[in-house]
Amino acid sequence: MKNCSICKTARALVKIPSTLEPSCKECFFLQLETKVHNTITLNKLFKRGDKVAIAVSGGKDSTVLAHVMTTLNKRYDYGLDLFLLSIDEGITGYRDDSLLTVQRNREEYGIPLKILSYQDLYGWTMDKIVAQIGLKNNCTFCGVFRRQALDRGALLLNVNHIVTGHNADDIAETVLMNIMRGDFSRLSRCTQIQTATDQTIPRSKPFKYIYEKEIVMYAYFKKLDYFSTECIYSPNAYRGYARTFLKDLERISTTSILDIIQSGESYQSNVEVKLNQEVEGKVIVGNCERCGYMSSNKLCKACVLLEGLNRGLPKLGIANESKIRKQHGEIKTPAIQNFKQLSIDREIKSPSLN
Ligand code: SF4
Repeated sequence: MKNCSICKTARALVKIPSTLEPSCKECFFLQLETKVHNTITLNKLFKRGDKVAIAVSGGKDSTVLAHVMTTLNKRYDYGLDLFLLSIDEGITGYRDDSLLTVQRNREEYGIPLKILSYQDLYGWTMDKIVAQIGLKNNCTFCGVFRRQALDRGALLLNVNHIVTGHNADDIAETVLMNIMRGDFSRLSRCTQIQTATDQTIPRSKPFKYIYEKEIVMYAYFKKLDYFSTECIYSPNAYRGYARTFLKDLERISTTSILDIIQSGESYQSNVEVKLNQEVEGKVIVGNCERCGYMSSNKLCKACVLLEGLNRGLPKLGIANESKIRKQHGEIKTPAIQNFKQLSIDREIKSPSLN
């Protein structure tokens, strides 16, 4: 291989996935860390003295995030107080093993660690949930519970910020999935680098512009200790299609991941302009009557799902979700449904050309 395109002196060992430029190991590390630093500073993600929980699962993304956050906090003297926060979903043979990795990371970085379990918070593990509902919709339960569990963990740690290891590929896949589903409400939010409401702790994605391949290479060359097994309950076929499509696009153009994120961002800023022009019609966020978590309905999503599980009617929460999302216009609009129905009717009535 040629010499490193950055320092021009050392021998190149890798190609930077986002630019395909040859690079030596040291320059590759530095360019990734600098990209994350620029993302943090340009978006003003933190301020000095912030207490930040790094959501860690033991997987490659969060392990690299913990490493990079610790490195940048020291190198640029951010003045952040860092914590590790893990959620134990109760998945035997998967999460119990990955949490051992997290515990080793705590020793290595010397950062306090808090682990919260679904069993303690909700009285259910994912093993028990899957035993009841099967492998359909399990990730909906898991996602809703994890989101709330992270907020609860952050409150217990008394932190004022959460960072997650979502990378550029994850975000581009989500943009594609929201387009394929016609879910423009989620499309308008999914590229935000930081999400926060009056009642929740800000949550940021410092790896928003870092390719998955870069994270894998960083973990490999730094010899980081991470857990690489997929969740045993991971059907998520829909995301799998988006992932395969994205990988195909990446083979044609290396910038396609960032291009898709940029498309999502452009859509987001257009929607934001419209929302700023609307004075009325705001969604008022209150608190769940049962657990006190923020909710725009009487019960928060986790309590609705739990009620379904506890009553032996797990579909209750799922059915309600789509109903609620339809009411809020988040799922296909009636106009599109009418159009689709019209097309079906025409197909049935029209004689075939063949
Ligand atoms: Fe939970 Fe689904 Fe992820 Fe497994 S794949 S950890 S069940 S969200």
